[in-house]
Amino acid sequence: MADFCTKCANHMFGEDVKPDIDIREIFESLNDGYMQSGFICEGCGLAAISKVDNELTLWRMDYVDGEGELIEVKASIDDY
Ligand SMILES: [Zn+2]
Repeated sequence: MADFCTKCANHMFGEDVKPDIDIREIFESLNDGYMQSGFICEGCGLAAISKVDNELTLWRMDYVDGEGELIEVKASIDDY
């Protein structure tokens, strides 16, 4: 089954559907200075969430010459 992050799930299914990858929930469960990965959003490629100084950073998986690479995506927890 495909997994979708908060933003993609809201976009596709509406706000009443709980996302598979709940960005706010993961962010709030993280200790400062940590990253959580091990998932991938089928919509936007979101593959990791990190929290540093209480700031959210999202990481998207990108493939360059067949090699997976995490690309930093600036984000604000206020958007989720
Ligand atoms: Zn997504």
